Amino acid sequence: MSNLETLQNTAPKSKQPKAVALISGGLDSLLAAKVVQEQGVHVEGINFYTGFCVEGHTHAIRKKDKEKEKRNNALWVAEQLGIKLHIIDISEEYKDIVLNPKHGYGANLNPCLDCKIFMVNQAQAWAWAEENGFDFIITGEVIGQRPKSQRKETMPIIARESGADDRLLRPLCAKNLIPTLPEREGWVNREELYDFSGRSRKPQFELAKKFGFEDFAQPAGGCCFLTDANYSKKLADLWEARGERRYELDDIMLLKVGRHIRPKKNFKLIVSREEGENNFLRGYKRQFTSIHTVSHGGPLTLLDGEFDKDDIKLAARIAARYSGGKHADKVTVQVENYQGSSFVLDVEPMTADAVKQEWHV
Ligand code: SF4
Repeated sequence: MSNLETLQNTAPKSKQPKAVALISGGLDSLLAAKVVQEQGVHVEGINFYTGFCVEGHTHAIRKKDKEKEKRNNALWVAEQLGIKLHIIDISEEYKDIVLNPKHGYGANLNPCLDCKIFMVNQAQAWAWAEENGFDFIITGEVIGQRPKSQRKETMPIIARESGADDRLLRPLCAKNLIPTLPEREGWVNREELYDFSGRSRKPQFELAKKFGFEDFAQPAGGCCFLTDANYSKKLADLWEARGERRYELDDIMLLKVGRHIRPKKNFKLIVSREEGENNFLRGYKRQFTSIHTVSHGGPLTLLDGEFDKDDIKLAARIAARYSGGKHADKVTVQVENYQGSSFVLDVEPMTADAVKQEWHV
């Protein structure tokens, strides 16, 4: 072996640091990943599917949303950055976070702090990340942006409890926090990170402009339905009615669709509001008893819970109230159970006043 060969073999290889970025599809995670990518770090993204994501297949059901451009923002962000995105379904494991958040809920049933800990933990624990030699994790968190989960005091909690410790870098507010391993090791230059804090999004918009991003998603109520008061109310109602806090993926999908009316404790109706919802609910006819109006155009209604004949009649009268026959003397409905057997019923539609306000979940 020549001397030259020996030298080449023993010289330290300059290793490009690798980071995993949590990509929600919003502006902050886009910018955080970009800031680090600009410093020569190899970045790949992870997006977690919890079942509560605002984006997803229920996005396009309603007519009022038809005009909106449909896109998966996490994928779109990855495309803007030119990075690989790994979408991981964590909906099963995530249940425990929603049902038993150690740090409690936010304004609604959003367990943001536990959620962040969980996601960072998942990103770190993900065997693939370690196997592939990832050095650190990036999130788009900004101190003070969210009152519960993004406070200066909670930042170390997330780092510690997620197990990521100082391998967790928040490029947008890093300068307000103590230096992390990637900064100390020189994988990223702390001076080129940011010190954003507070609720104002102005610095983010300016940074987006600097990078030339003109089009980006700005989710109004955060990244998931759990921050939505109406949605959370429906979820709380579901738990109360069941007498226990549990849910399946279909339950939480259905909470996004239709009018939810609970005339009695033991059951509720999910009444479609338009054709798109009708089609969506039709997909559940093999899991629920359903009612559809035959004599008049009208909604498809699912019955959830336990009910007897009188309850079905009451449900049919409510369903008829939302049909084209709401002013008719009689509306004919077909009631079909989940196994496909059905019968027909003539009912008097309920008047608007009779459908009590407090029945609306
Ligand atoms: S809004 Fe939803 S997805 Fe985002 S941190 Fe809170 S609980 Fe998690």
